[in-house]
Amino acid sequence: MASPPVVSNALVQHMARLHKQSPLFVALFDATDTTRYANPAFLSIFGLSTYAGLTWSDLMRHSYMSGVGAAIKTDDFEAWLTSTRSRRGKLPFRAFETDLTDGRWIYITETVDEQGWVLHVAFDISAMRTSERALRQARDGALRAAQTDALTGISNRAHILQQLDQRLEQLRTSGQTCGVVILDLDHFKCVNDTHGHHAGDLVLTHFARLVAGTLRREDGFGRLGGEEFMLLFPNIEAAALTLTVSRVLELVRAAAPLSDVPDFSYTCSAGVAMLKAELDAKANICNADRAAYAAKANGRDRLEWAA
Ligand code: GH3
Ligand code: MG
Ligand code: MG
Repeated sequence: MASPPVVSNALVQHMARLHKQSPLFVALFDATDTTRYANPAFLSIFGLSTYAGLTWSDLMRHSYMSGVGAAIKTDDFEAWLTSTRSRRGKLPFRAFETDLTDGRWIYITETVDEQGWVLHVAFDISAMRTSERALRQARDGALRAAQTDALTGISNRAHILQQLDQRLEQLRTSGQTCGVVILDLDHFKCVNDTHGHHAGDLVLTHFARLVAGTLRREDGFGRLGGEEFMLLFPNIEAAALTLTVSRVLELVRAAAPLSDVPDFSYTCSAGVAMLKAELDAKANICNADRAAYAAKANGRDRLEWAA
């Protein structure tokens, strides 16, 4: 087989020059979602002259606070961020449309590599027929809704299971490891029985926000149903995964999610496993599930590793 062409410095320089001139919006984010490259067109969307040190969340917050760049229509920016991050960078490729505060419409593509780096290439589609835009927007909205848990705003069951399939595929094809965690709130029935279903909903929403805030962009987080959640942690060692999950349990233990009942607290239990290439998705979930049962049986508010 012929060897691939060498990427010479001259080639890179041509590429850089063209990116500088191009009206396409180009930006590259690393696995921590820090901007590692952005061309002038991309920066101009946000009215910025540099991207140094800025994460994608910083850019969105800047947009929201200053009213430049992405048109973010929400009364609750943090909830918007939690929900948007649950879809961002989770699948190898996706594309969607969005509008900017200056009235322009852009079509954004998102390509994700196995290390969790994200490349955005976007272009102005303001000139395209507006009559069809409503239809495309409705389609994007329906797609988002089909992936999102309505109560908590994180991934729903279907979306997190899709991510699990993806991670299993990557484990089989390139050996990329991935941790899987089942989180189940402890004695949650009592929360509803004592404080009411609405308070239970508030706890679930608070929990989702709290946990989402601890995650790396490449991590997956979805609600499997009820008070049971799944987390996916690609590229992580077992020891680091134990630490990460312990920290989540600690944060939950310390949280006071009900402002009307300031002394209310709750806990959750975790079953932890590394994905096994020789098992299918269902058997891998069973593995983590069994560990979660063990955590319950051993007293709750703790994590157990799968055997
Ligand atoms: P364990 O520690 O063994 O997990 O006990 P548990 O009470 O958490 O578990 P169980 O499965 O017996 O009860 C789960 C409860 O979660 C029952 C159900 O009413 C509640 N629940 C499930 N979905 C929702 C929801 O969307 N909102 C509210 N408020 N409660 C929910
Ligand atoms: Mg429970
Ligand atoms: Mg349960």
